[in-house]
Amino acid sequence: MLSEQIISELKSIVGKHNVTTEKADRICYSYDATQKSFLPDVVVHPGTAPEICDILKLANRERIPVFPRGAGSGFSGGSLPTRGGIVLCTERLDRILEIDEDNLIATVEPGVVTEQFQKEVEKRGLFYPPDPASLKFSTLGGNVAECAGGPRCVKYGVTKDFILGLEVVTPTGDIITTGGPTMKGVVGYDLTKLLCGSEGTLGIITRIVIKLLPLPEAKQTMLVLFDSIDGAAQAVSAIIRGKIIPTTLEFMDGRTIDCVRQATGLEVPEEARAVLIIEVDGDREFLDKQVARIAEIIRPLGVVETRVATTSEESEALWQIRRSVSASLRKVNPDKFNEDICVPRSKVPEMIRKVDAIAERHGVAIVNFGHAGDGNIHVNIMIDKKIPGELEKAEKAIEDVFKGALELGGTMSGEHGVGIAKAAYIPLEITPLAAEYMKSIKRALDPNNILNPGKIFLDEANPAGRGE
Ligand SMILES: Cc1cc2nc3c(=O)[nH]c(=O)nc-3n(C[C@H](O)[C@H](O)[C@H](O)COP(=O)(O)OP(=O)(O)OC[C@H]3O[C@@H](n4cnc5c(N)ncnc54)[C@H](O)[C@@H]3O)c2cc1C
Repeated sequence: MLSEQIISELKSIVGKHNVTTEKADRICYSYDATQKSFLPDVVVHPGTAPEICDILKLANRERIPVFPRGAGSGFSGGSLPTRGGIVLCTERLDRILEIDEDNLIATVEPGVVTEQFQKEVEKRGLFYPPDPASLKFSTLGGNVAECAGGPRCVKYGVTKDFILGLEVVTPTGDIITTGGPTMKGVVGYDLTKLLCGSEGTLGIITRIVIKLLPLPEAKQTMLVLFDSIDGAAQAVSAIIRGKIIPTTLEFMDGRTIDCVRQATGLEVPEEARAVLIIEVDGDREFLDKQVARIAEIIRPLGVVETRVATTSEESEALWQIRRSVSASLRKVNPDKFNEDICVPRSKVPEMIRKVDAIAERHGVAIVNFGHAGDGNIHVNIMIDKKIPGELEKAEKAIEDVFKGALELGGTMSGEHGVGIAKAAYIPLEITPLAAEYMKSIKRALDPNNILNPGKIFLDEANPAGRGE
């Protein structure tokens, strides 16, 4: 536990109402979407970057670990206080500071909720594409720190493609800015890109300069049911080969459909064993042509039914099916590991076949869904932890899934990050030399290993890898 003296110093930095040591409050900040839990000693809610500087200076002086936290929706344990210490929440840094319509740029604080920002810019005919399925609660700071993706990233790119600059409090408690409000800039190293996806280990993001696009005139959403997962996977490759990049190309396999059906009462024919949700956006006339062309390309691949949304309400209803997947899987089977491998798009059918073989080999149920258009498959290993041996089976299956993705030229994580969940598997993907290159950056910027220790790379804060 931290001393009374330190708690009182924290209170003098951020105000006494913004520091909590009550156990009930600390429990609320002890977990994320991995459902692992570590109790912090204290939770602080700073309201300005200078306050964050003071917290980090104090933490360095006293060698207290600091764990940055947005909404705590992460899937890799990035925000978890694995060694107690301070959880630093960005909830109060929640202002949209500027939406600059002349330059198509916005400046925001990190605690702004993703969907709230999207709605604000859309009111002005502007568009911020990155749309993690958690957008109703995830924060833009968390999105930058994880380099979040989402369905629309297949056409528009991921979070880092929209970040022009940052204000960051360094691990030792100074403020720096990176990049800025220009479309180009090549002076010095690209620290903005380094910080995007750094999982709160290299600095605390306190301000974000974001590139915006004009809002497309219209969009059209279609939900296509296939009689086999192979047909749906081949449809993904066929659409891309047909030189069409839809806004989204989401897929769900048969077991995912069964879980959503069970949890939400979704009505789909029994013979549907895979779903693609395909959305296109742009000028109205262009959309009709694209939808017709997509329908023609996928017709021979076992289409059972096609539902095309004609209103925004119908489109939202189709998307609601996709957004309900995570909760539905959790409802049907509370113990699941959600991995998010990414393979070259053309390898999606082969990867799905590999996953099926892994499920059979280890005797575990695996459910697949995700952003097939950019090869990013959410592989969910469903187990019952209460049954002896299930956890070990799941761990072996996960390792094989990662190895399978790497054999196909892919990566272990397309968007969820490493956190503690994948730290033990890093040597599968990153060579010792490249890992040392990365660790030397961390050591140089955070000599006392104060900021989010034990994340991405194993250390004494995370010796076993996966946490509790
Ligand atoms: C139902 C559900 C669906 C999801 N769908 C997607 C999806 O489609 N795509 C996707 O990419 N992810 C998805 N996620 C994962 C998660 O929502 C994202 O990783 C999101 O970006 C995390 O944002 P957050 O505000 O919750 O961050 P947190 O979980 O609080 O933190 C995530 C990481 O960012 C760090 N961090 C947070 N704020 C800052 C800051 N200001 N400065 C520095 N570091 C910071 C933390 O230390 C931690 O390492 C989903 C999660 C859930 C529960």
